[in-house]
Amino acid sequence: MNLHSKLFDKIRVKPEPTAKEKAAAAIKPCEWPGCDKAAKHRAPKGRNAEGQFWNYCTAHVQEYNKTYNYFDGMKDDEQAAFRKDAQTGNRPTWKLGEAAAVFAGARRRQAKYIEDPLNILIKEKIKTNAKHGRALRRNELDALGALGLPEDAKPAEVKSKYKTLVKRLHPDANQGSRANEDTLNAVIKAYDTLRATGFV
Ligand SMILES: [Zn+2]
Repeated sequence: MNLHSKLFDKIRVKPEPTAKEKAAAAIKPCEWPGCDKAAKHRAPKGRNAEGQFWNYCTAHVQEYNKTYNYFDGMKDDEQAAFRKDAQTGNRPTWKLGEAAAVFAGARRRQAKYIEDPLNILIKEKIKTNAKHGRALRRNELDALGALGLPEDAKPAEVKSKYKTLVKRLHPDANQGSRANEDTLNAVIKAYDTLRATGFV
């Protein structure tokens, strides 16, 4: 008996897998990223993938069913990416300091986007006020305009200009004439706006 026939006998006599072993082999691992539990459930992949199924464990088929509509129309790889993100709560896993830096960058990019010459949403330029370090709000820009001040006016300039205008426009300074009443009201309203937003 040579080596080859020995090997052949060995292979031939290997017992048939039991029903239990067959069942175990038929169960695939869960397809949820990072999960290696037995996938006992099938979930339809959905639109444009009729007859195709994800294999999930009990916990993940439930998770999938909960979010099924959300993923409607999303491509498979996008779904997989989303689920992977979902494992970290859909938040990037930053340390606190890194997150702050990223948010600051996002705010700078957003400010740039507002000034983007696409000209679809916002036509006026929103400049960053030196003191406040943030983009001015629309009502603040309007208020500064009503006071005849530039967009980069400092809070002290706003206060000073307000006092000057009130003195100049007040009826007491105009022999009781109320000719400037509308302008005066607009000035007072503008100053109130800037106080309400914390500008002054
Ligand atoms: Zn799973």
